[in-house]
Amino acid sequence: MNTPKARATCVGGSGEDWRAGAVCASCDPDLWFPVESATSASMAAEARRLCGTCPVARACLIEAMTAEGSSGAASRYGIRAGLTGEQRYAQFRRQRRDARIARQPEAAAGN
Ligand code: SF4
Repeated sequence: MNTPKARATCVGGSGEDWRAGAVCASCDPDLWFPVESATSASMAAEARRLCGTCPVARACLIEAMTAEGSSGAASRYGIRAGLTGEQRYAQFRRQRRDARIARQPEAAAGN
């Protein structure tokens, strides 16, 4: 049975590049790219749990959102900062909507 391996030893390192602090750098990367299988949900859950312990999650999310730009959910691969591609796309859409509203304050106020 293919189950997520114990990740108790996955910890971030240190260094000038934020990636040096990434928890996933010391883990099996397959966890962050679960394929369709019976274990994919548990792998994704483990990846999200580990992201929750990652000291560089904010930088990770900023980089992912920048790199993915306006790409659709299907083009956003893997789990980044605890978010799936669909969740990052939803966040992109919220940010785009909020930016649009901020540029048009009268419309947002209903005037
Ligand atoms: S937050 Fe980003 S850098 Fe940290 S473990 Fe998750 S995917 Fe890796």
